[in-house]
Amino acid sequence: MARARTIHGTSVSPGLAIGPVHVVRAAPDAVPTWSVAEVDVGGEIERLRRAVAVASEELLRRQHLVARESSERDAQIFAVHRMILADAGATKEVEDTIRGERVNAETAVHQLIGRLEQTLRGLEGNSVRSYSADLADPWREVLQALLNVAQAFPQGSQEKVVLAAAVLTPQVVTAVERGRLLGVVAEVGGRFSHAAVLARAFGIPCVVGLPGLLTRLEQGMVISVDGGRGVVELRPDADQVVEFHQRRSRLEARRASLSEQADLPAQTADGVRKGVLVNIESVHDFDIFDVLQSDGVGLLRTEFLYMERPQFPSEDEQFRMYRRVLERMAPKPLTLRTLDIGGDKRLSYFQTPHEVNPALGWRGIRVSLQWQDLLRVQLRAALRAGFGNELRLLLPMVGGLEEIEAVHEIFGGVRDGLIDQGFEVERDTPVGIMVEVPSVLFALDRIAPHVDFLSVGTNDLVQYILAVDRDNPWVAKLYEPLHPAVVRALANIAQVANAARKPCSVCGDMADDPATALLLFGMGFDSVSVAPYFLPEIKSALRRTKLADMRQLAVDALAQSSVEGVKRVLSSIRESLA
Ligand code: PEP
Ligand code: MG
Repeated sequence: MARARTIHGTSVSPGLAIGPVHVVRAAPDAVPTWSVAEVDVGGEIERLRRAVAVASEELLRRQHLVARESSERDAQIFAVHRMILADAGATKEVEDTIRGERVNAETAVHQLIGRLEQTLRGLEGNSVRSYSADLADPWREVLQALLNVAQAFPQGSQEKVVLAAAVLTPQVVTAVERGRLLGVVAEVGGRFSHAAVLARAFGIPCVVGLPGLLTRLEQGMVISVDGGRGVVELRPDADQVVEFHQRRSRLEARRASLSEQADLPAQTADGVRKGVLVNIESVHDFDIFDVLQSDGVGLLRTEFLYMERPQFPSEDEQFRMYRRVLERMAPKPLTLRTLDIGGDKRLSYFQTPHEVNPALGWRGIRVSLQWQDLLRVQLRAALRAGFGNELRLLLPMVGGLEEIEAVHEIFGGVRDGLIDQGFEVERDTPVGIMVEVPSVLFALDRIAPHVDFLSVGTNDLVQYILAVDRDNPWVAKLYEPLHPAVVRALANIAQVANAARKPCSVCGDMADDPATALLLFGMGFDSVSVAPYFLPEIKSALRRTKLADMRQLAVDALAQSSVEGVKRVLSSIRESLA
């Protein structure tokens, strides 16, 4: 009997997609070593040459990206990296290792990187050391290409694909340019993991919870993805394809009509003004939403701007990036979150120690306060760009007042320094914190007077309240934003913020859901900030509901003792929104 071709999983990001699948195999952490038989040496060298070509193409792609997003000057580093790869001497060295030691190309490249690092590590001077990094970096790209050989794309292909992977990771979601990405499916993955956040930010359908999926796929097989329902169809037949296109037309028509109304103000049915803002990661996000429909950017995740580069962006480079996003948003506010690396958000050029428990480790503001020069450069760039614009600064992963005071001191020094140097800066730039570490919750009444606004990062807050790693697919089922403990924590945050007269918002992804957004407004939050895809739907839900009904929703949800109970309460309002 043929196995069912319809597979039910868990919805991560809504939308409908159909197209050829491309299986992405994650690169292993360690470099695998094996010996190569004499007859295979030629093939191994050919594999190396192909990987050098792939890496060179990838560097060219990044060069164009940075030139487009920043400047030709910033993009030059990639041109230098490509020249290094074009040097026949180094390639010959690697080929000699393959031939002489009869090892695989990965091992030979790995050895070359080690030698390059070793030679220049001992030398004095920053510029020499950074030159050493420049020499080794392009070869890391070759190593990556070799490790990814199973997933290599036909270079230069413009084909749009649905990506499939064993585990949903940020690397999978960014494996091809956004314009070519139709959807993502994975055997396992967290609904609120950083990879899921990216899928929603890109507005592409994504489904996880599909055990055994990869064994049933072949490269290029056509599949359809219903992100909202969490359904994947393998090799849909002609009737199913017709039905799929009909459903997609209906969805597009609905989104178009919601979008028309999204120009109207974000207010309740009885005229109470609320805020609906967007979360963005890059200047490209402006292509997928209408600035006029939002009340501003509630969260700019600056770490993604850092992640796209081969080294730390300079102050001027950051200044230009921030200016571009501020100007695109003007006169509406833009909330710039300082660098939030750590956990699974890593920078290829910033080696950090291995952590057994990274979610509880070196993350967010902890990194910025330890490496204060990073923070200073970012603040200088932000303050310079903020002049004449509505800039707000947001601090991630704050755990207590001491960190806020430390940032204020650095901030004051940076401001004075800029003024002394003749830069124009705003007199007051609001500084707020992410509420995502439980210690802040219990001390919020003491902390609130020291900040200008609060923004709740529920993606992290939920993982810390429930002790469920948001990025660990094995506990994904336990990650439940509608847990009564979370609901009570959120209501409490809104209450304390309101009493302290501090604006409070939710920028975690749970606010993407219209019924949940209404619950948050009913609790007393002033605004929500969501991935652009969800903006029209949230505004429509808000405009159709009276504040009193949202408040009642909050009262009913708070009376529940189980996740099921809270979901039942929300389903009542969900029906009225359908
Ligand atoms: C959050 O934690 O909810 C949040 C908005 O930040 P991030 O997802 O980037 O950690
Ligand atoms: Mg967070």
